[in-house]
Amino acid sequence: MAGAGKVGEVRVKADRLTSFIRTICETDGSDPREAKIVAENLVLANLYGHDSHGVGMIPRYIENTRAGNCKRNWHARIVVDNGAVITVDGGKGYGQVVAGEAMDFGIERARQFGVCVVGLRNCHHIGRIGAWGERCADAGMVSMHYVNVHGHKPLVAPFGGAEARFSTNPYCCTIPGVNGEHIVLDFATSQVAMGKVRVAYNKREAMEPGLLIDHEGNHTTDPGVMWGNGPFGAILPFGLHKGGGLAVICDILSGALTGGMTATPETTKGPPGDIVNNMLSVVIDPSKLGGEGIWRKDSQDFIAWVKSAKPQPGVDQVLTPGEPERARRADRLAKGVPVDETTWGQLRDTARLVGLNATDIPT
Ligand code: NAD
Repeated sequence: MAGAGKVGEVRVKADRLTSFIRTICETDGSDPREAKIVAENLVLANLYGHDSHGVGMIPRYIENTRAGNCKRNWHARIVVDNGAVITVDGGKGYGQVVAGEAMDFGIERARQFGVCVVGLRNCHHIGRIGAWGERCADAGMVSMHYVNVHGHKPLVAPFGGAEARFSTNPYCCTIPGVNGEHIVLDFATSQVAMGKVRVAYNKREAMEPGLLIDHEGNHTTDPGVMWGNGPFGAILPFGLHKGGGLAVICDILSGALTGGMTATPETTKGPPGDIVNNMLSVVIDPSKLGGEGIWRKDSQDFIAWVKSAKPQPGVDQVLTPGEPERARRADRLAKGVPVDETTWGQLRDTARLVGLNATDIPT
């Protein structure tokens, strides 16, 4: 299938795209606040260039609200309270809502105690993890986030394995910067996020070698091995044994420690399309450690030093994590967000499914 004729794309202005997604969610039964939060979160992922976690998720979200796998208008609750260590239950609510609320609990406690460990469990998809790091960084907090995913079949092979055992288990660390220019290291511990395989599949494009294996463990560039009726292949973990190790750590910290559960045969046999995220976050108030003045100056001096390295041939400049996303955001705000035609068609189908009038569906 890959390479069997590429599909085109449309360019949509970010505000128009946000309003379309907002209307879909509201018509589906989300209250206006929830619809706005979900739409803005997804469109920001597109603006940052992470189309895998952008508006293309909406068809699946709406399938899940209608199947009862994602609860509309639900809010996060602290279920275990030990002061600087809390467990928050997402109740399968929209991840965009409950993860934001969990971060706000963590920020408030970190202000009080200097640090807060937040075990967030049982959320519907929480999207781009960088959004949660940025929320902490906007409040002046350093944060680390370990995430697992289950509810659906496993997608990622362990290092050396020929079959999938867990999912794309992202990790994020965010450090507040000047004028909102935070350091945001945010990635899936798989070679690519599953959404990027979906985007390639939708665009009928082959993927780079070294990312995927087929059901026999042989390398392949065909994203089709992850879709359809199987037999299924797997995505490889990034960074060989080191990335494979971090993926395992993410599952245990976010799944076992929070009570949200790791990816096992029991937790991964959910209904097709279901998606559960658990996240262990450590939120730190840096002013309570070495002192406000010292850490800010030292980290900024360090970044300047790192960026002063002579670039390799073919590289324009050394960037810090978070910079590529900010550059893409500026570009896409100006030129519009590219949405491939398959995804655009799926969004229009979803709009019809929730009962939007034909006149309210952009062409
Ligand atoms: P990626 O491979 O694009 O890596 C992104 C990270 O690398 C960012 O921190 C970025 O700033 C940094 N980076 C990229 N190029 C750089 C450069 N030249 N110099 C310095 N830094 C650079 O990300 P990914 O693995 O495809 O993940 C995409 C998104 O998917 C992430 O936001 C992640 O949180 C999300 N995700 C979510 C889930 C979930 O279950 N909710 C699962 C997997 C991934």
